[in-house]
Amino acid sequence: MKMETLLLHNGNELDLQTGASSIPIYQASTFHQFDLDNPGLFDYTRSGNPTRQALEDTIAKLEGGCRGFAFASGMAAISTVLLLLSKGDHLIVSQDVYGGTYRILTQVLSRFGIDSTFVDTTDTKAITEALRPNTKGIYVETPSNPTLKVTDLRQVAKIASENQLLSIVDNTFLTPYYQQPLSFGFDIVVHSATKFLGGHSDVIAGLVAVKDEELANKVKMLQNSFGAVLGVQDSWLILRGIKTLQARLDVSTKNAGILARWLQDHTEVAKVYYTGLSDHDGHHIQTKQSSGHGAVFSFDVGSEAKAKQLLQKIRLPIVAVSLGSVESILSYPAMMSHAAMPIEVRLKHGITDGLLRFSVGLENVEDLIDDLTQALDFKISFSVAR
Ligand SMILES: *Cc1c(COP(=O)(O)O)cnc(C)c1O
Repeated sequence: MKMETLLLHNGNELDLQTGASSIPIYQASTFHQFDLDNPGLFDYTRSGNPTRQALEDTIAKLEGGCRGFAFASGMAAISTVLLLLSKGDHLIVSQDVYGGTYRILTQVLSRFGIDSTFVDTTDTKAITEALRPNTKGIYVETPSNPTLKVTDLRQVAKIASENQLLSIVDNTFLTPYYQQPLSFGFDIVVHSATKFLGGHSDVIAGLVAVKDEELANKVKMLQNSFGAVLGVQDSWLILRGIKTLQARLDVSTKNAGILARWLQDHTEVAKVYYTGLSDHDGHHIQTKQSSGHGAVFSFDVGSEAKAKQLLQKIRLPIVAVSLGSVESILSYPAMMSHAAMPIEVRLKHGITDGLLRFSVGLENVEDLIDDLTQALDFKISFSVAR
């Protein structure tokens, strides 16, 4: 079946007991055992729950994995997966990885003797140069945030298999609708389902899909041990969000392309970062490994003063962290997602004081262009914000 159909018909769309058109929310912490000698499928919700199970089976199907897992947040998913590493292990990580991932590696797991080296994973030579005798894994995020650097997933999977490394990829920005890293040989896919999979800025959730039974058993043990599982109401909301993923991403991605090209020609915009633009460094690889460019791009208006002025004047997008929702979200990395980064490192990565990140929602694109037009008119002073 094609992805569009699989989003709706993946074996988890019906309640087999009643025929109900959505999986019920099994709001229960424990399960009566009718016969101790023949235990039921479920015993305690930390270990398993039918609603969460439906979501876990869904992400496994969509990513082409063997089993899936749902967690209380993207960071709970990522942190639990990283517990596959042990004291003395070394991990190679994309240098512009999500801030929370950077934090757990450098401030928490480092205390338990797990070492990380952050490299530009768009450069395969930099990856092989970072290999050490104790390197056990490689963790990549592509396209990266906020300048959308593209890592070649096939190349990384090859390096990982040649060196017996566990390969992990954060697929939040593209979702399985556009990119399926397990099909390139990756071992584990992680998601912040808070973003496109949930899609409505109303749930915090994380998902994992793994390639084989052996890994599935290990992650299952860690999920049950650490206990950062997703609640049943939120599991249901993510199941519901996934049903409209195609429709949402099709519209948002189309509009992101239109807006990125429009901004590229705007006199107040110094640079636009979007993998869908043919002059983007990662355009070629992105086109080879993904079926779409996604709904997120960044653009540089040249200065902090102009960025702040634009954020004051913009009316339609909410000004916030996060991304991947039905409404457009405009963020200011220098003071939001990347505020903790030392300024010289931030500037080196192209995250200037004029850089804004746009996650395109489902608004009419002409309305978004009109809004950006007035917000980019830096000559006119403004009085009313929204
Ligand atoms: C938001 C995000 C995360 C963290 O997910 P939470 O649900 O906020 O814990 C991880 N990776 C990426 C790429 C993200 O955008």
